[in-house]
Parts: sequence; structure tokens; C-alpha cells
Amino acid sequence: MNIHEYQAKRLLQEYGVPVPRGYAATNSREVETAISHLGDDMIVVKAQIHAGGRGKGTFIDGYKGGVKVVQNRQEAQDAANHMLDNTLVTAQTGPEGRKVQTLYFTEACDIKHEYYLAVVLDRETAQTMVIASTEGGMDIEAVAEKTPEKLIRVPVSPTMGLRHYHCRRVAFALGFEGEQVKQFARILTGLYKMYWEKNAMLVEINPLVETTGGQLMALDAKVSFDSNAIFQHPEIQQLRDLNEEDPKEIEASKHSLAYIALDGNIACMVNGAGLAMATMDIIQSFGGSPANFLDVGGGANEDQVTAAFKIILSDKNVKGILVNIFGGIMKCDVIARGIVAAAKNVDITVPLVVRLEGTNVEAGKTILRESGVALTPADSLVEAAKMIVDQVEKAG
Ligand code: GDP
Ligand code: MG
Repeated sequence: MNIHEYQAKRLLQEYGVPVPRGYAATNSREVETAISHLGDDMIVVKAQIHAGGRGKGTFIDGYKGGVKVVQNRQEAQDAANHMLDNTLVTAQTGPEGRKVQTLYFTEACDIKHEYYLAVVLDRETAQTMVIASTEGGMDIEAVAEKTPEKLIRVPVSPTMGLRHYHCRRVAFALGFEGEQVKQFARILTGLYKMYWEKNAMLVEINPLVETTGGQLMALDAKVSFDSNAIFQHPEIQQLRDLNEEDPKEIEASKHSLAYIALDGNIACMVNGAGLAMATMDIIQSFGGSPANFLDVGGGANEDQVTAAFKIILSDKNVKGILVNIFGGIMKCDVIARGIVAAAKNVDITVPLVVRLEGTNVEAGKTILRESGVALTPADSLVEAAKMIVDQVEKAG
């Protein structure tokens, strides 16, 4: 689960990380109030969406920049008028962009240097990794790609936790001296503590700035939490912004379905993530393109299959459905009955191919054949993929 920059900064502040004073707003009244809390001096106006690259983004009407440093309150008001309810396209949003429904107004500061600092779960080494760079700011991905030697990586063992020597090592690598080493150590300690206590997978500050006055401060923040641990943190759950999520994915999570929308036209309903990936691959190898990744899980009962059909069909791009289910713990006849009942509940208006394999597969196929539901049973995954790609092509 992701949160907005303004929420991440509030959390960081609780953990002792200095951030500029700021106020969030979701409508024109709140915008006025937020601006009135700030001085009539330089103000930063920031679009709040769950995607980075805002500074270099462009709104769909051509207005440039989702992060604006302006000279006074009037200019802040003008920038807000342009941004609120407008759609911002950045390198991370895809061409359709994201509607901006929240703005954040902060005091501006004079930047001497921009650094990058993150604490992240590193699956490869099964450790926590502190990643830092003197080349912070808007192009950290380019730094990682072109000059990876400029990224400092310090692993932290989860059993030992972050120690002072880790902090000093990173601080010296970034070139800090004297008082700033202490400031930096406090920031990294807070960052790590927040990462650990809140079950985050990523806490990133980019940029961490040194102001002309020599202070270190977080100007931007991104936090991702482990969704499997979120039940332990109701205070974090409250920060969820459903506006930032695909409504189909929200509906799927209510039925314990793992669903991710993709941009093709053949919907897949599969049990097990590995089988789902194999199914998407084989659709693609026959020239089709998957409309989603949908894992109904080990159970695949009638209610779940019904919900899955409804979610799939609410995607207007879907021109065909491939159901590919392996009856291991669940038997194929039980699954077939579930599919047939679900298909009768939902008005399926596109070609439907069903491939079952596993325990009681013959009984399952008989149920499908005799169901009276307009579906094509298939004997193998290859056959199923060919059939659905063919049927979708013919229909289109
Ligand atoms: P992102 O583009 O989505 O990563 O948004 P950021 O919040 O990181 O802002 C982008 C850039 O705007 C930063 O890298 C800074 O260069 C600049 N910026 C943000 N806040 C301030 C500020 O208070 N003062 C100045 N001078 N620049 C700022
Ligand atoms: Mg940033």
C-alpha cells in the first residue's frame, strides 16, 4: 500500500526527520486556508498523486509541472487553480495520467545540494538496504542506470538492526562532516525506525536537501507498506486513498482475489500465480494479449468465481475470457459446478473458453458440456489459448 507525500512527511516528522511546514487541501476552500497559513513569500505547490516524477510532469491541458516553486500567495493560488482536478502525466503514470485531487502547500527552502536516501527491503540478500547518493533530485533512475557507482549501498542485518556505524559510513560516503554527520545520523535512524515499526518495504527521501543554512531536510517522501502486515497498523490503513487505486482492484481485494488490470483484451481467470503467469505467456505466444492477471486462489468457490466474472466483464476492453484452473486440493467437478453457476449469474457476452485439469477432470468436463452455458471446453492449455485467441480475432 502506498501513501501520499504529505502523509509520508507527517510520519517522518513523528520519527524526528525535519520536513518543511506544509498544509494539504482537497477543494478551493481548503486551498485558501492552506495558503493563508503560509507567509506571503516563496511557496511550493505540489500535486499529490501516488506516482513520482511530478516535477517533470505535464498536465493534459499542457500546463507544465506538478511541483511549482512560486514567489507569493497569489501565484500559489494561480498554480492551485491550474492543478486541482486537472490530470497530471508523469514518467510513472502512463499516458492516461492521474487526476489530482489533493494539493500540498509547503514553505520553500533555499537548496544548496540534493541528496537521495532510502531504506528498502532487499529480497536478493534478504536484508534491509540503505541506499544513498550525492546525486539526488529528479533523476535518480538515470543515476542508477548510467552511473551505478554513485549509489552507496549499505546492508543492515534484520537481526542486528541499524547501528551508529552504519549511519557514519553512509554520512562519510555522502561527504558530510562535523555537525552534519550528527544531523544525518538522526535522520537515518528515524527513517530506519519508521521502516521497521510500520512494516514498510520502502521509505525514500528524494531529495534530502542541504539548505543554504546547512540544515538537512526531507523535501519529498515516498513510503510503501507491506499489505500483508497492514492489519497490524490501523493508523496506516486510514491513510489509504481509494482514489489512487483501480476500482476493479479494490473490488477484487474484497473477495480475496489477486487482480491486476493489464491493457490487452483477453481476460484470464486462473488459480495460482505461477499458472496465471504461464497462461498470460501462452496467450501472448499465440498472438493474443492478456487483459488482466487474476488469481482466484486455491479455493475458487462459486462466490469468488462470480465476483471474478463481474470484475472481468466491467473492463470494456475484454473481448474474451480464458478460464484455466487446476483442480488439486479442489476437485474439477466442484470447480466446474462453480463456473457454471457463476456463468449463469452473470451475463457473459464474450467468448468463454474453459480448461480444467486435475482430480476428477472427466466429471468436470461433463458438467461443463452438459451445462447449457455458452462456453468451449478445452483439453490442454495450448488448445485453450489457441481457441480463445481465434474466437476473439473472429469476433473482432
Ligand atoms: P517529484 O518530481 O515527484 O520527485 O517531486 P519533488 O517533491 O521531489 O520535487 C521535485 C523538485 O522540486 C525537487 O527535486 C526540488 O528540486 C524542487 N523543489 C521541491 N521543493 C522545493 C523547495 O522548497 N525549494 C526549491 N528551491 N525547490 C524545491
Ligand atoms: Mg522527488
